Amino acid sequence: MTGKDKMGTAVVTGASSGIGAVYADRLAGQGYNLVLVARRADRLEELAEKLGYTYDRKVSVISADLSNDDDVRRVEQAISADDSVTLLVNNAGLGGQQVVATADADAAERMIKVNVVALTRLTRAVLPGLLARNRGAIVNIASVLAFDSSFGGIYSGTKAYVVNFTEALHREVAGTGVKVQVVLPGATRTDFWELAGSDIDQLPKEIVMNADDLVDAALVGLARGEAVTAPALADAAKLDMFLGARQAFYGSLHADKPAPRYAA
Ligand code: NAP
Repeated sequence: MTGKDKMGTAVVTGASSGIGAVYADRLAGQGYNLVLVARRADRLEELAEKLGYTYDRKVSVISADLSNDDDVRRVEQAISADDSVTLLVNNAGLGGQQVVATADADAAERMIKVNVVALTRLTRAVLPGLLARNRGAIVNIASVLAFDSSFGGIYSGTKAYVVNFTEALHREVAGTGVKVQVVLPGATRTDFWELAGSDIDQLPKEIVMNADDLVDAALVGLARGEAVTAPALADAAKLDMFLGARQAFYGSLHADKPAPRYAA
């Protein structure tokens, strides 16, 4: 790797809009070369040209539908074979399908494939290389809805997976030069809402963040080595309290006999 390319290559999924496009911009600004992944090739190409020119970086594009098994494998092959990869941002994702009884089952499956399966497979594709080179990071974009199912169990369930998966991965890589971070965006002004059939303007303005602020904060959290980054959380002690309470709760869930209230 030459001095100019010393940051290596960042792979950003869902880079064609919203949070992913901001990551692409910021990471190019930090000196990463980029591999941009999403379905809309025209938007990726346009962004690649702009970022390549603005930041003098190498930017390539992989047009792929991450709900399609063959496309996911194609991306896996490309990024696992590229030993310049130092960062993977698993950002592609979609919501909607809030009511299970009336959900479009195929759309729900596509959501699970993008939010969960592709994120897992792409992580698995780059992790051995990162560990072998003992450097780099994996950033997984979850959601605050990992902790609240009131907007539907399918999306919330996928994001709870992302949190648990990433926390475990963070423990797995402890002591190596590889960082792992899960980001918990709250309501963020992007196309996501309209695509999910919701109106972000129905929310109070004071709880809606813009994607630039969200990504800038998440990158500060990454640089600090945070496992869990919650950009909107004003009181960081609340996260420690929550994680501590969860651990204590887990510790009380094992016994050799059922609790007395379940006596037949
Ligand atoms: P967005 O503007 O709709 O961006 C979603 C990105 O994912 C797009 O680039 C889209 O690209 C890509 N994508 C969707 N389906 C795909 C597929 N089948 N294959 C490949 N790429 C696909 O929304 P966003 O808010 O930036 O979302 C980014 C992440 O943030 C998601 O994981 C979302 O769950 C999470 N998040 C968002 C919010 C929020 O309020 N906005 C809150 C919490 C978490 P193509 O359409 O070109 O494929």
